[in-house]
Amino acid sequence: MSRERPGTTSAYYRACVRYLAIDIGGSKTAVAVVSEGAITGYTTWPSASHASESLDRIISTCLSMIDDISACGVAFGGVFDFPQQTCVRSMHVSGWEGTDISSVLQHALGIPVVTDNDANVAALGEYSLLDQNEDPLLYVTMSTGVGAAFVANHQLIRGAHSMFGELGHLPLGHDKPCNCGQIGCFERAVSGYWLETDHGRPAADVLADPEIHRQWVADIATGLWSACVVLDPAMIVIGGGMSAQGERLLDPLTQALAQKASKSERPPPAVRLGDPTGRTVLVGAAVMAREAERGSR
Ligand SMILES: [Zn+2]
Repeated sequence: MSRERPGTTSAYYRACVRYLAIDIGGSKTAVAVVSEGAITGYTTWPSASHASESLDRIISTCLSMIDDISACGVAFGGVFDFPQQTCVRSMHVSGWEGTDISSVLQHALGIPVVTDNDANVAALGEYSLLDQNEDPLLYVTMSTGVGAAFVANHQLIRGAHSMFGELGHLPLGHDKPCNCGQIGCFERAVSGYWLETDHGRPAADVLADPEIHRQWVADIATGLWSACVVLDPAMIVIGGGMSAQGERLLDPLTQALAQKASKSERPPPAVRLGDPTGRTVLVGAAVMAREAERGSR
């Protein structure tokens, strides 16, 4: 890890032991050992089609990696009830509904386990790479849908119902109906699913059209600026599959946010693209595992 966690970084990592980190995604599952903020062991496989099969493989993999591990953090790719530590649903894999992943793994592994949705966990991982003057962080994941998470002063803000960061359903004012039942959602304008549905071809092909791309960036800027007005982040990190647009997204988006900020009393947030490898989420899971070890989740 080249950059340090702000504030207590050095003390944090000196005190850090080995943690298991699990990322349960719709298409792949990964298990890693994270020590002092670095991934020292890693294995991945295509996600099973059912939760019970997935849990069996996760447990057997973890048991083979569990030497000298003090706690485990899990990133779940779906809607997750954090206070109850229960899966609400996975968009891609059946059988997760109502599963208390943490209890199942804790029983099997004999160590403290904590789980959260993958956007929150990725946000913790990205936050661990920031400088102190880049706090607070708004992490936005843009892929099939749009999700977000907010970390301030080392704490994830989860809201009253684990629903904080439902940025995808922020009203932008356009007239297209969204799957959620509302009209004009941010996600309806910019997500990969809707670009493909509206244009009948892969999102990357759709965005090759300069005019569609220009409107896409303008809509992202409108949504993110609305979030900035409420949350006042110092840094926005954009992750998810659509961050593969790279500089073609980052440059015009940074300019658009600066233009909006110039008309207000606030400076624009810094904007950065997230880790494209997906491994930062595992670092975030280890940060969460440390909290589980302390019994403070
Ligand atoms: Zn919606």
